[in-house]
Amino acid sequence: MLSSAIDFQAKTVSMVMTQLKDVFMMSIDSVLDTRTMCQLMETGHSRIPVYSGARTNIVGIIVVKDLIILSPEHAIPLRNLMGIIGRTPIETHSDERLTELMNTFKSGQAHIAVVKDVVVDPDGDADPQYVLRGIVTMEDVIEALLNTEIADE
Ligand code: ADP
Repeated sequence: MLSSAIDFQAKTVSMVMTQLKDVFMMSIDSVLDTRTMCQLMETGHSRIPVYSGARTNIVGIIVVKDLIILSPEHAIPLRNLMGIIGRTPIETHSDERLTELMNTFKSGQAHIAVVKDVVVDPDGDADPQYVLRGIVTMEDVIEALLNTEIADE
């Protein structure tokens, strides 16, 4: 554990994050009907990024337990709920040290962050752009700290 803790100092977000292509997300245009609710259950994830238009445009995070009081028969549009249950994501970048991110997670704001990098146009013609790379959660950081996988329940 001691050597893991020493290695941890040098680890960065890019080493532990979940790549964008592997992230389960929902469109803000989804309807919370039985099909969608079953899909949510099947993923087993407790926090789901919500995007608008393109998957690279995350507009919030929903925590699946917040949906427990909803009845699928009402098929409520997710858009109508975002103002009530939608949470603003913490942002990090690929090169941030996990020690820093851990401090942010410890502050209790959220245990998930979206990973965004600034990409500069090599010709210098266009403005720098933010590119979404994926997500990282407190579990990813703790696994890096302990240098071991934590099996999900
Ligand atoms: P959960 O229990 O909700 O899956 P954890 O924080 O325990 O969340 O994360 C377990 C693993 O699943 C981590 O590698 C994390 O990056 C990944 N993960 C969490 N949420 C999602 C999601 N919505 N889509 C894909 N992977 C996710």
